[in-house]
This record gives sequence, structure tokens and C-alpha cells, in this order.
Amino acid sequence: MPLKELVIASHNRGKIEEITKMLSPFGVKIFSAEELKLPDVEETGTTFAENAGLKAEQLSAFCGKPCLADDSGLCVDALGGRPGVYSARYAPNRDFDLAMKKLINELEESGNPDWSAHFSCMLALKIPGQECRFFEGRVNGKIISERRGSLGFGFDPIFVPDGFEQTFAEMSGEEKSAISHRGRAFAKFIKEVFQTGKNI
Ligand code: IMP
Repeated sequence: MPLKELVIASHNRGKIEEITKMLSPFGVKIFSAEELKLPDVEETGTTFAENAGLKAEQLSAFCGKPCLADDSGLCVDALGGRPGVYSARYAPNRDFDLAMKKLINELEESGNPDWSAHFSCMLALKIPGQECRFFEGRVNGKIISERRGSLGFGFDPIFVPDGFEQTFAEMSGEEKSAISHRGRAFAKFIKEVFQTGKNI
């Protein structure tokens, strides 16, 4: 049976916007957690997979519909992989302006000239009555000290993916999704759920 409806287990509007665009060709009705007034799930896990699984399982149990959760973050080599799973909570009140300043300060203070980083994304799909399924994506790049661009969200203005000159915030949604951690995880998800004809 094709997937007819899907709840996106996130309250992050930037993410929901990207996800809705990526799934638009497949005729699946998308609901956001906010629209269905679903509670915020506490991210108590220590890995992207644990948190994505928690969100998908709990919200699906709550609303009875198939739920897709995305847990993602920015991992900076010189900071031992931080902020990682704590990316959303890196700055008070999810203030990304402050988060970017804080990250650049930390990198300058580290004295390490290598500002390599990657974004990771783990998707968890929970269909009621089935085991949770996972899809992973990653993009390598580097952090820059001057922000560039106004598109996207979060740390996009200071992240330049490998092989490109522009930051994620200087790319259109389509350009970013073609190479991003979330785009790559979604390509796997779409292949399994919409393109292989497998019974879900
Ligand atoms: P989550 O909602 O716990 O998955 O938080 C993910 C956090 O990682 C976001 O709030 C951002 O700080 C960061 N993040 C994840 N994906 C992206 C992206 O595509 N661009 C910029 N920042 C991102």
C-alpha cells in the first residue's frame, strides 16, 4: 500500500519546508507536528539515531499515523564533534545568530586552523505496527568565520560544503537538497518507500 499520509515529527519550520518540497512529487499528504498539536518530544538520546527513533515512535503512538522524524546536527572536528546531537540546544532559545557567534568564538579560541565539519542527518520512519526504519545522510565541508547568504536556516550561512564555494545559505533549496545531509537521507527514504514498489 503506498504511503498516503505522513506526519513530520518536528517543530522546526526550516526543516518542514525542506522536507515538504522534497516529498512534493510523491502525492503524500504531509502534516507537521505543530498542525496536529503534537507535544514536543524530549531528545534524551546521545546519538542522532536514538533521538530520531524516540521522536518517530512517540509521536506515532500519540497520533496513530505514520511519522517521520529527522534528527540532525553539525559536527565540528576541532571541537571533538560538538555541537553534534546538541546542535539545536547549542545557544539559548534556539537563537542561531548567537549559536553561529558562539561556534566561531570557540573555533578561534581552539587555535586549530582546521575548521572541517560535517552535517549528519538520521531519519526514522515509524509506521504503526511496524519496526522503525532508519535512513542516514552526511555532507562534509568547513566552517567559515564570515556569514554569507540569507537562505536556509540554522548554521547554513557559515557552512561551505566540500567542492563548492557557496555556503548552504547562498544555495536555493533545490541546490542544497541535492547535496545536503538531509537530501541524501531523503534520497534513501524515497527510494525505499516510493520507488521500489515494496509493500510498506
Ligand atoms: P534537531 O531538531 O534536534 O534535529 O536539531 C538540528 C539542529 O542542527 C538545528 O537546529 C540546527 O542547529 C542544526 N542543523 C541541522 N540541519 C541543518 C541544516 O541543514 N542547516 C543548518 N543547520 C542545521
